Amino acid sequence: MYDIAILGTGPAGISAAITSKIRNKSILFIGSRKLSDKINKAHQIQNYPGIPDITGVELAEKLLEHLECMNISINEERAVAVYAMGNYFGIQTDKDMYEAHAVILATGILHGKAISGEKEFLGRGVSYCATCDASLYKNKTVAVIGYQPEYEAEADFLAEIAEKVYYFPMYHADIRVSEKVIVRKEAVIEIVGDNKVTGLKTTGKSYETDGVFVLRDSIAPDRLVPGVTTDRNHILVNMQMETNIPGCFACGDITGKPYQYIKAAGQGNVAALSAVNYLDKINRHDKEKEM
Ligand SMILES: Cc1cc2nc3c(=O)[nH]c(=O)nc-3n(C[C@H](O)[C@H](O)[C@H](O)COP(=O)(O)OP(=O)(O)OC[C@H]3O[C@@H](n4cnc5c(N)ncnc54)[C@H](O)[C@@H]3O)c2cc1C
Repeated sequence: MYDIAILGTGPAGISAAITSKIRNKSILFIGSRKLSDKINKAHQIQNYPGIPDITGVELAEKLLEHLECMNISINEERAVAVYAMGNYFGIQTDKDMYEAHAVILATGILHGKAISGEKEFLGRGVSYCATCDASLYKNKTVAVIGYQPEYEAEADFLAEIAEKVYYFPMYHADIRVSEKVIVRKEAVIEIVGDNKVTGLKTTGKSYETDGVFVLRDSIAPDRLVPGVTTDRNHILVNMQMETNIPGCFACGDITGKPYQYIKAAGQGNVAALSAVNYLDKINRHDKEKEM
């Protein structure tokens, strides 16, 4: 059981991890050692106090150095669901299941709309995690919609279990999947079914399938954390970065505009301090109960 689970390795998550570590909390930090595309892709950053002119790649190097010198490690995983269990949280990733007393959501903003049918059939044929749900599709047909090349490996893994695997890449690059995987370079427009998924439609074609794996970096917040209050793609928070779920905090782009590094980092700091206060409160409460 960790004290605080922090999801997302952009400026918001990094700042939350640093402050949580300074406050001696055990942290589970989920994301990528590449940190965030939104850091790496910036050509020139001029509005981060103390660093008048820096490229995104240079900033990423500095942030990684900061994490390393504080012995903060990153679990290279993708969170697929966060469940509020009363006095703790269950965090399901594409590799494992974890528990933490508090959660800080710093997963950035999801650009683009969900695929039609994605939300409706989630858990009824739509999945965000090959490792978690592959076994349901033994000898069946599945479609994998991959938004980054790294998801080609997930299609290969599914091909070891399912009878037939279609791969729909949502990016332009050479596709390197095993020969068992059927690649279709077509835009997916709808996931269809009745009680559960029966197929999907692309521009011009229809495919029969028992399941659809939608694999992208970001998952809409209300699907990642069932029960959290959102306004479109943003999680609603107060000035302490508290969401409507006790023990669950959010920071950075995911809480709304402006989308800026310093705002994300500032909110990450506030979220961590609020999580620390929350943990202190529940510890005090537990001790009082024991007396
Ligand atoms: C090209 C470009 C240039 C920019 N230039 C500037 C600038 O000069 N100044 C400025 O202030 N701002 C700039 N921005 C905006 C800035 O990048 C963002 O505001 C900032 O990165 C937001 O930080 P964040 O931590 O909230 O989210 P992000 O940086 O988006 O980080 C979120 C991280 O969480 C990860 N994640 C998402 N879902 C999951 C999951 N389920 N499990 C695990 N990890 C997950 C994502 O992959 C990502 O790594 C720029 C943005 C772009 C795209």
